[in-house]
Amino acid sequence: MIKMENVYKKYSNGISAANGFDIEIKQGEFVYIVGPSGAGKSTFIKLIYREEQATSGQINVNDYDLIKMKNREVPYLRRGIGVVFQDFKLLPTLTVFDNIAFAMEVVESDKETIKTRVMEVLDLVNLKHKVRMLPSELSGGEQQRISIARSIVNKPKVIIADEPTGNLDPDTSWEILNILEEINRQGTTIVMATHNREIVNTLKHRLIAIEDGRIIRDEAEGVYDFEA
Ligand code: ADP
Ligand code: ADP
Repeated sequence: MIKMENVYKKYSNGISAANGFDIEIKQGEFVYIVGPSGAGKSTFIKLIYREEQATSGQINVNDYDLIKMKNREVPYLRRGIGVVFQDFKLLPTLTVFDNIAFAMEVVESDKETIKTRVMEVLDLVNLKHKVRMLPSELSGGEQQRISIARSIVNKPKVIIADEPTGNLDPDTSWEILNILEEINRQGTTIVMATHNREIVNTLKHRLIAIEDGRIIRDEAEGVYDFEA
C-alpha cells in the first residue's frame, strides 16, 4: 500500500515539484500517472522509493514510514519495490543472467535459488534463450523486458515504472504492457508514469493526472483525452 498525505517537495534550487500530494494506492492496483513534462511525475515516483525525500507531509509504503526512516533502512524498503526506467539501466558489462542475478546477490540469496528464480523471470518475459548475452546484443524492447525481469526477481509488492515505453516503438510498447499486466494479475501493484495515450485509453486502469505538483484528476478507468 502506498499512502501520501499533504506531501510537499522543494528541491534545493527552489523549485516546488510536489505541492500537497494526497493519495492512496491499494495493493494490487494498476495506476497510470500522466501530466505534462515538468509536472512532477518523476518526483511523485521517486518519493515512493525514497530516491527523493519529502520536504513535509507523510509517506507510507508497504508499512514503512518514509519520513521517519533512517537512510540505513532504505535498502529494506527497496526490497519491496521493483523499479523500471525509460533507459533500462542495465549494467553493460554483465550478461543478462548476471544483471538479474545481481539484484538477488545483494539480498544474499543462495546460488541455487538465484539460478532457478532468474530462469523463472526470464521465462515470464520470454527471453530464456538470451540468458548469456550482453545488453548491447539485445533490442531496446528486449532490454526493457530484462529490466522488468530484474525488477520482479525479488518478488516485490510494487513495481514503479517511469515512462517504461518512452524509448520503444508502438509494437514493442504493447509487449511491455502485456508483461506488466501479467505481473499485475499475479497481485503486484503497478505505478506507471507515461505519455502514451493509446495505451492508457486501451488498457484502462486508474488514471492520475499531475500538473504543477498537484493531483488534478484521479479516475478509475480514466480516459486520457485532456490536454497535458
Ligand atoms: P536535491 O539537493 O534537492 O536532492 P539533487 O541532488 O537531486 O537535488 O540535484 C542536485 C541539483 O541538480 C539540483 O539542485 C538541480 O540544480 C540539479 N537538477 C537535477 N535534476 C534537475 C531537473 N530535472 N531540473 C532542474 N535541475 C535539476
Ligand atoms: P516530470 O516527471 O513530470 O517531467 P519532474 O518530477 O521530473 O516532472 O520535475 C518536476 C519539476 O521539478 C520540474 O520543474 C523539474 O525541473 C524540477 N526538478 C526535478 N528534479 C529536480 C532536481 N533534482 N533538482 C531540482 N529540480 C528538479
